Amino acid sequence: MIDFTPSKNDQAAFDRARASALICRKYARYYDENEHEMAPETLPETEAFMASHPEIPPPGPEDSSYPTRLSRLSMIHYWGDYTVRLQRERGGLGNAALSAAGTDEQKKKWMGLCLAMAITEPGCGSDPSRVATTAVLDEETDEWVINGEKIFVTTGIRADAVVLWATLDRSAGRAGIKSFLVEKGTPGFDVPHKEKKLGIRADDTAAYVFRDCRVPRGNLLGGDETIARKGSGGFRGVMKTFNMTRPLTAAMGLGLAEAALDFTREHLDEAGITLDYTAGPATQTAAAERFMRLEGIFEASKLTTMQACWLAGEGKPNNMESSVSKAHAGGSVRVITQGCIEILGAMGISREHLLEKWMRDCRITDIYEGTGEIQRLIIARGLLDYTRADLK
Ligand SMILES: Cc1cc2nc3c(=O)[nH]c(=O)nc-3n(C[C@H](O)[C@H](O)[C@H](O)COP(=O)(O)OP(=O)(O)OC[C@H]3O[C@@H](n4cnc5c(N)ncnc54)[C@H](O)[C@@H]3O)c2cc1C
Repeated sequence: MIDFTPSKNDQAAFDRARASALICRKYARYYDENEHEMAPETLPETEAFMASHPEIPPPGPEDSSYPTRLSRLSMIHYWGDYTVRLQRERGGLGNAALSAAGTDEQKKKWMGLCLAMAITEPGCGSDPSRVATTAVLDEETDEWVINGEKIFVTTGIRADAVVLWATLDRSAGRAGIKSFLVEKGTPGFDVPHKEKKLGIRADDTAAYVFRDCRVPRGNLLGGDETIARKGSGGFRGVMKTFNMTRPLTAAMGLGLAEAALDFTREHLDEAGITLDYTAGPATQTAAAERFMRLEGIFEASKLTTMQACWLAGEGKPNNMESSVSKAHAGGSVRVITQGCIEILGAMGISREHLLEKWMRDCRITDIYEGTGEIQRLIIARGLLDYTRADLK
């Protein structure tokens, strides 16, 4: 039986995370309005908080409850503030790819660094098989020579290095695509600009350019290219990363939606509007009825997210479920935050409050790590047993 009741230890960890998330929330407006100003690794009040609230030891990644716990913690952190939290995270999406597809030696060398992941290019987004950045092996020097351009790289400024997708042979399509570990400061690796965005404005999203950038042969993720051809470090190996990160992305968006619901509930309460969960729609106020519908959407999304994480923890396939959680959350966080704004009217769009920011921040849930449309393609293929060629 699936049981999501948190253990006593986990509940204490969640309560602690919620208190610390509220510290981040105090800085949310500042870093939204001062786009690209980096939040310090430790916020002024955080050290005092840490001293008075000792860390509650979590179960390790080998524990089956680990992914579900991680999703709940992500939800809580982003309930505090998406962008300040994102800035303070040490690892990036590239760390997840390294963990899924790197050799032991590579993990030892690179895991302590913050690794971004760069797939998207000006001519390639939803369909990564169109990656045009090239990697050519220089047999004389035993180095890969990389040329190309990447855009919208999350944690692109803060990252120490990047897991970069490049093709060895464009005519080979997906089979030709490999990932490479490239450190900042390598000659030929430039960061020409930071992206300016609608939401998650404090997040350091960057563009990268590679011009004859040389990296050692061993920087191919998964080892040398003959091993990589068999799977590890190749397209499939790295795509597996998303089975865990997509539900976590869903959880982050849901954290914002929960913040919006809490804010709205509080203001409905102040306005004397009662939420009666036992009464039918005919006897509710329109605002209460609308609000409870939004709560229902939230619960459904949260459950799909936790189910995808639970499957990961049990070591069961979750490719389709992770897409269900991401697609569902991507849509529901928009409906919820916009619905809360509609219920509260002017208060909802005022910059005096964070609700309008949560609406902007949550939009990304349905874009990065595969848009909603792409998730629905994956779900349809899974349900109908279609191949990529059958349905694209
Ligand atoms: C803030 C931010 C951070 C990001 N971080 C990263 C990062 O760290 N690393 C990285 O590599 N990328 C990152 N991205 C890029 C992101 O992953 C892409 O924007 C996304 O995959 C969509 O690609 P695209 O923008 O090129 O849109 P396109 O692929 O051009 O798609 C345009 C529209 O067409 C739809 N569409 C495309 N193909 C199909 C299809 N087959 N069927 C139906 N509809 C389809 C899409 O859903 C979308 O609505 C980030 C983007 C943003 C905005």
